[in-house]
Amino acid sequence: MAVENIVIIGSGPAGLTAAIYAARAGLKPLVIEGVRTGGQLMTTTDVENFPGFPEGILGPDLVARMRRQAERFGARFAEQDVTGADVRRRPFVIEIGPERHEAAALIVATGATARRLGLASEESLFGRGVSACATCDGFFFRGKDVLVVGGGDSALEEALFLARICKSVRLIHRRESLRGSRAMQERVNAASNISFVWNAVVEECLDPALGRFVGARIRDPRTGERSMLEADGLFVAIGHEPATALFRGQIDLDPAGYVVTVGGTTRTSVPGVFAAGDVQDPRYRQAVTAAGSGCAAALEAERFLAEDKS
Ligand code: NAP
Repeated sequence: MAVENIVIIGSGPAGLTAAIYAARAGLKPLVIEGVRTGGQLMTTTDVENFPGFPEGILGPDLVARMRRQAERFGARFAEQDVTGADVRRRPFVIEIGPERHEAAALIVATGATARRLGLASEESLFGRGVSACATCDGFFFRGKDVLVVGGGDSALEEALFLARICKSVRLIHRRESLRGSRAMQERVNAASNISFVWNAVVEECLDPALGRFVGARIRDPRTGERSMLEADGLFVAIGHEPATALFRGQIDLDPAGYVVTVGGTTRTSVPGVFAAGDVQDPRYRQAVTAAGSGCAAALEAERFLAEDKS
């Protein structure tokens, strides 16, 4: 089996930018893009802050353009999920089911996924009125009353998106002040059908016995007081978890599970393994910062391969 120069795991802006750079360097990278290609941009609507698109661009369009650009320079793609990885010896081994790939350098750009509340009733009603993606499921709640949980930009973005489709949106936040940016807060405040439920945590999604969401039981964390909010849907938008399970015990991760990179580079604790995008970035998590770190990872991988051969 031929050893690949570079395998890139992930096909969000980090993985695809790394692919563009590695492909242009003649390294013919193999991108394992996952069954759900494109990462979180696929579930975003308008991206208004990616430089070069003054009118904004749809997340999936941006991904498709990056993918075409990488392909044009010779990147190859596998539309599957990685099922195993061994980076304890070189060449590194990446498994896709029974298929095995070996790589001289690896770029981990696996991103992060939406966090859940962790309630049994949330799990049992997931897809039955409970969702973590307004752009995927909002359509089903046309003209209805929905709840959004969270106080960051994700929650504000979900609320704004849903406000265009739904009759009413109530944003449930566990504190009294939002974490999201001022610009987003201003837009939410300007929407006539978005209101806030402050100091409230969701304790239970109802009603698993009915098999569909009819409302949430909430509690005020300061007083312990409980109340009911009736609604047709609930969207969980409380942040993200890095997708690093494959590398636990092999690459240094921080306590929250993000890949630790060395001193402002994309180098990880394993020489030859680089990390880019949200998987190593709990702070900025933007498409453009992910793309930037994807570029850096490809440049570092290229240098690593050149030094390795010399
Ligand atoms: P985030 O900023 O970490 O916000 C998560 C929110 O969920 C916080 O308000 C947090 O409450 C709340 N939360 C967390 N766990 C909870 C739980 N178990 N129960 C109830 N509430 C919980 O995450 P994010 O909103 O996904 O944003 C992540 C990054 O992406 C940010 O840098 C953001 O600016 C960026 N982003 C930007 C855009 C955009 O510009 N269009 C869109 C989406 C995301 P506390 O505030 O009390 O901690």
